[in-house]
Parts: sequence; C-alpha cells; structure tokens
Amino acid sequence: MRHPSLRCPRCGRTTMRINQVENALSRTTRGINDKAVYVCSPCGTDEGLQDFFDEGATPQSEWPVEHLKYALQIQEYATNLQGAKIKETEMENNK
Ligand SMILES: [Zn+2]
Repeated sequence: MRHPSLRCPRCGRTTMRINQVENALSRTTRGINDKAVYVCSPCGTDEGLQDFFDEGATPQSEWPVEHLKYALQIQEYATNLQGAKIKETEMENNK
C-alpha cells in the first residue's frame, strides 16, 4: 500500500517513505479500535524512546511536534551505525 502523503503527521517533515510498511505505526494508535496512523521512522524511534524513558508518546492532540525529543540520540545512533558500516566496509576491503 502506498502512503498518500510523504509528510509525517507527527513532525510535519516530508520524511515518510512511499511504502507504508517502511514507516512506523504510531504508538498512539495501538488500541483495538484505533485507526492506524503511520509516522516517519525517526518519529517511530522517538515514540519508542518516549515510551521507554518518559510517560509514553506525545499524543496526537499535540501534533505536529516542534522537534523530536530524542533527535540528538537518534542522530547519534544513525551516525554510529553509519560509522560501523564504514568500518565494516573498510575491513572487507582490507581482506
Ligand atoms: Zn516524523
């Protein structure tokens, strides 16, 4: 299923992937009768971290959020992941 818009309803950025399954099902729509709402992958991670460290994901009534609460940590994680991939590639190339 293709997502109708690339704009993320949570952060307002055009960070949604075209294929809906590559986005994240918002933690605000996990109830049995909730209409499924997808957010971009960074927002999905942000909600997960909010769920773990805070009192749950920012409710939809407060969307769009001004910024991702854990943006720095997500960025750091992505950078570390990228660094690990580069190292891995370098190790492969040095074999
Ligand atoms: Zn988002």
